[in-house]
Amino acid sequence: MVSGFKATQPAVAVLALIVLLASFTMPIANPADPSPPDYALVIHGGAGVILRDKLDAETEQAYRTKLLEALETGREILAVGGSSLDAVEAVINLMEDSPLFNAGRGSVFTEAGKNEMDASIMTGHDLNAGAVAGVTTIKNPISAARRVMTHSKHVMLSRDGAEAFAADQGLEIVDPEYFRTERRWESYRKLKAKQESAAETEDTKHGTVGCVALDREGNIAAGTSTGGMTMKKWGRIGDSPVIGAGTYANNLTCGVSATGHGEFFIRNVVAHDISALMEYKGLALVAAADLVVKKKLVSQGATGGIVALDGEGNIAMSFNTPGMYRGFLKSNGEQSVFIFGDE
Ligand code: ASP
Repeated sequence: MVSGFKATQPAVAVLALIVLLASFTMPIANPADPSPPDYALVIHGGAGVILRDKLDAETEQAYRTKLLEALETGREILAVGGSSLDAVEAVINLMEDSPLFNAGRGSVFTEAGKNEMDASIMTGHDLNAGAVAGVTTIKNPISAARRVMTHSKHVMLSRDGAEAFAADQGLEIVDPEYFRTERRWESYRKLKAKQESAAETEDTKHGTVGCVALDREGNIAAGTSTGGMTMKKWGRIGDSPVIGAGTYANNLTCGVSATGHGEFFIRNVVAHDISALMEYKGLALVAAADLVVKKKLVSQGATGGIVALDGEGNIAMSFNTPGMYRGFLKSNGEQSVFIFGDE
């Protein structure tokens, strides 16, 4: 009431003064709820030389909007008690369908001018996993990876065999032309004209997509989907479909999805290495991720990054490139998307 306020005005002023003075001497409390979130989700859309002055405002906005849409897709599933596996598949489907990313539609071109995709998925409660490699007609490779995990006795299927399996499973099969975008074709055409090798172009921009989720049951799932590296040849397969390299999930430790120069990620078993540092050395998530991405990989000249989360809903988004399309959300309301390294 207005009159009541007047009567207590001096008391309010004294209280305000105490609070003001206290704020100089007391640590500022974190406004975010410190208790572990009921669910959490983290995504990436590739790491690389992503610079402010090279990304026009419209394109930047398009990426931010799509990343937010991806987070929202995951939230809708996790908030109502859906599984981390469902969230990971749905989020990656959305990113595969977007021409912005190097996965599904918008995948980069091989040396022969084709789109060949890899994907994998893993669940942390049972260490089950599935993957497809070198596929050219499966609209959503991550869904095929999930089916390999849930509807076959195998972990990784490749090329026409994986495509026949996906068709048997009733997944959508498309003409290879579906994956072609002018933007990727233009980069391919330029590189082809310059006769550059994949090794010379590795450090431009990656664009793989990945998602790791923790659901209300405490289960972690992780998935990764990619068109691989521009100008790849001889049926080259990267780290993305390799369990332990590009993707890993274990409820005891964490879930990880990687992006970067796949050959290094395979040789360093990056995703599992982060989990192993937590399991065997007791490192916290961010320390484990930074050790692998910012020390080990950097010492070898390898570019890329990872997103990860642990059973407590802690998030890591570690990369050694100028930027990485990325974002996270937690049930306590925290949510952000980022592109550049300095934000
Ligand atoms: N890791 C992927 C590969 O090597 C590429 C990327 O993440 O951009 O196939």
